[in-house]
Amino acid sequence: MIRSSSLFKVDAKGRLRGKKLVDRSRSWKENRSITIWPGPGPPFLSCAMSSVKILSLPNELLLAIVAAGRELEEGSVAVQQLKPEWTCSQVCRRFRSVIVGAPGLWTLIDLDLHSDALADIANLYFTRSQACILSATLRESEDIENDPLVAEQLSVIVPHIHRIRQLRLFLSADSQIALAPLRHVNASNLERLEIRNTVDAFSANVELFSAGAQMLRFIGMKGITPHFPVPWAAALTHLELRRGEWRSSEGSSWGATLAAQCPSLAHLSLNMVDISIGRLHLPCLKFLHISLLDPDVADHGHLLAIFGLFDAPALVEFTINGPHADQILVLFNSTTLPHSSFPALTSLTFVSISCGCDRIPNDALPITSAPPLFPLLSSLSLIHQCFMTHLAAGVVSSLHTWPVLKTLTLCPPDGEPVGEVCDTLWNACRSKPQVLPKFRLPASLLARMKDREDEEDEKSGMDTELFDPTELINSFD
Ligand SMILES: [Zn+2]
Repeated sequence: MIRSSSLFKVDAKGRLRGKKLVDRSRSWKENRSITIWPGPGPPFLSCAMSSVKILSLPNELLLAIVAAGRELEEGSVAVQQLKPEWTCSQVCRRFRSVIVGAPGLWTLIDLDLHSDALADIANLYFTRSQACILSATLRESEDIENDPLVAEQLSVIVPHIHRIRQLRLFLSADSQIALAPLRHVNASNLERLEIRNTVDAFSANVELFSAGAQMLRFIGMKGITPHFPVPWAAALTHLELRRGEWRSSEGSSWGATLAAQCPSLAHLSLNMVDISIGRLHLPCLKFLHISLLDPDVADHGHLLAIFGLFDAPALVEFTINGPHADQILVLFNSTTLPHSSFPALTSLTFVSISCGCDRIPNDALPITSAPPLFPLLSSLSLIHQCFMTHLAAGVVSSLHTWPVLKTLTLCPPDGEPVGEVCDTLWNACRSKPQVLPKFRLPASLLARMKDREDEEDEKSGMDTELFDPTELINSFD
């Protein structure tokens, strides 16, 4: 298999970089530069030489160009209508012979589950890729819901499931029905599985690969949840469950079941967590990303109780969506948890995408020192958090007690005036002799800080960096 990376690199603008193109044919003797432009269609070849004929392209370079086009395509969520291996192989007989004879160019399979030609296209890729390991993406058109033929269409990959290393499914049909062909098969080379069901009504708990998937390490699911127990769960290291339907085994909580089935997890993302999931003992867990289910604004200890669910002594990063400011204050003032501790936690992020509270309780605790529960905390982020100014003021006024804090990220909610937060930071910088952390701020707050410097005609002395929270906020979708 010839891969473009063995000859060239494609830079961020889609240009081939790396080994100099030395032409060995008469047409290429002037050795001009070649550029591949990315885009919705096949790679577009541009050449400075007007005299060059594309049909004189050496085989090696032709294969490299098609491979580069496939690399641009790999991982893309959007459907690419024109595949480079497909379109380039139809240019002429020689191109067809060269490309069809390169099995490594037929290993990225992307199929429309509503297409009448699905079986023919799939079999063409399965044949031309010979024995190569595959990456397969199968999608339903979003405008057709609950097509009864989806399961039948999906079954076309079953005879070749042992060759698939990465499988991505985008569904809008009932997952229980659509995924039936994958229920009892053995996916012996599958390492990464992503399934998204875009229709809320079809959220489901689905049994998959009951015959085995011993290489499977990564699962990302939206709208469905894997049914446990399965024989391959013990080796999972990465599990993302968005909008899933969680069911516990009889007599045990869902969290305890998950932790018992997947003791090797290093990365766990769960949307919608409440106390009822039960405690999770996860000794290898390093990254935890959760969203709270309807956190009770009147329950000041709710966030503390959520932290108490996770017995994860190796945890390094914890991102949590949905807490209220007074619940954060309770957490920061707590000294111990009965069953949990966070001795390795260095990064803590609070996000509040849609908080409905409008006032902080009169009996809310202050922040007078660094939180005792997190002795190694070096990065604290408050993203669209309610009562941001109150929390920021507490942190910056007690910075002398946060000896290892290196980064403080503050993003006020959209539409909220940033003047108060700006004043808080400005005053902290003017009055505090200790070393300040780096401040990561959104563009609006950075602009306000600059205006303040101009008004005062002096520099703040703050070490600042632009921070855009969009990607983080979208990760809770
Ligand atoms: Zn709130």
